[in-house]
Amino acid sequence: MMVIMQPGASRQQVEEVIAAIEARGLSAHVIEGVGQSVIGAVGETHAIPTDVLAVLEGVENVTRISQPYKLASRTFHPSDSVFPLDGFTIGGREIPIIAGPCSVESRDQLLDTARAIREAGANALRGGAYKPRTSPYAFQGLGEEGLAIMAEARELTGMPVVAEVMSIAQVEVAVKYVDVLQVGARNMQNFPLLRAVGETRTPVLLKRGISASIEELLMASEYILAGGNPRVMLCERGIRTFETATRNTTDINAIPVLKSLSHLPVLLDPSHATGHWEYVGAVARAAVAAGADGLLIEVHNDPAHALSDGPQSLTPQRFAALVGQLRAVAEAVGRQLAPLPVPVAAVAWDGHA
Ligand code: PEP
Ligand code: MN
Repeated sequence: MMVIMQPGASRQQVEEVIAAIEARGLSAHVIEGVGQSVIGAVGETHAIPTDVLAVLEGVENVTRISQPYKLASRTFHPSDSVFPLDGFTIGGREIPIIAGPCSVESRDQLLDTARAIREAGANALRGGAYKPRTSPYAFQGLGEEGLAIMAEARELTGMPVVAEVMSIAQVEVAVKYVDVLQVGARNMQNFPLLRAVGETRTPVLLKRGISASIEELLMASEYILAGGNPRVMLCERGIRTFETATRNTTDINAIPVLKSLSHLPVLLDPSHATGHWEYVGAVARAAVAAGADGLLIEVHNDPAHALSDGPQSLTPQRFAALVGQLRAVAEAVGRQLAPLPVPVAAVAWDGHA
């Protein structure tokens, strides 16, 4: 970290900056220029906010040289984080596909969709039971009943299940039912929630906030990692820009940028990124080509009657066709789609044939 003093800053002001740096366990190195001094702070600077120095008398500017996050950074952990999730790994050569409806609406809807995506080649099932809706009058999700249906779908299909949590109380309930806790875009900077999922040992799928920078996403992941939960997946889901032709703007750049800054697996959600099922396939293929470690895709057994996000949901048939294309793209870039957890024929369908 470099502290640039104002021209003509007094010796006493320089000494106060040095004292503030040393008080935080760092060492200070002064470079005396012509009429202006620069002080380098060396040590664990990620733990020091720049403003505690910027506020001192005589300071012109404080610049970070190293990143403000540590546990999420590739400098701290040079190799890719690879971790297992029931039947496949994420973060390595394999690319898992997590698919399913936006919301769990009923047992039939979820089990039908789960069976169809399983046969089409999905590795994990997504489905929201606690839904973050813009309108308080819109369908809010089935709550714990929805989580129980997700757990039933896991038993029937062998696929691990992913569901969103929006509050600390919901984390306590959801860990009993799901394999992965999703923190949605709207809660990316809900710091008490990040701490709560960091206290669990359940993997976390952390979505990028609607207007969050890549650095803010990594700082959010740092909360979870600092809590002692190392299994965090980052998910680009489109950001808000001036463009209105699509629901959000896919930041494909985020994939290689996150992969270079961090060792954590990086997923892409082409459904929320585009908002229209017609564009989901193109963006999903682009994401795999760009190095994504996984995809999160909304699929509904009857999109026309979905209670949330129907316009961006693929039918199971369209999803199956897309999986075939993704397999080819993965192979073209030296990767492969994650293998299915158990042979389809071995799955018992509880009458949902
Ligand atoms: C979702 O996955 O259904 C969802 C609400 O996503 P996001 O938080 O990215 O909007
Ligand atoms: Mn959705």
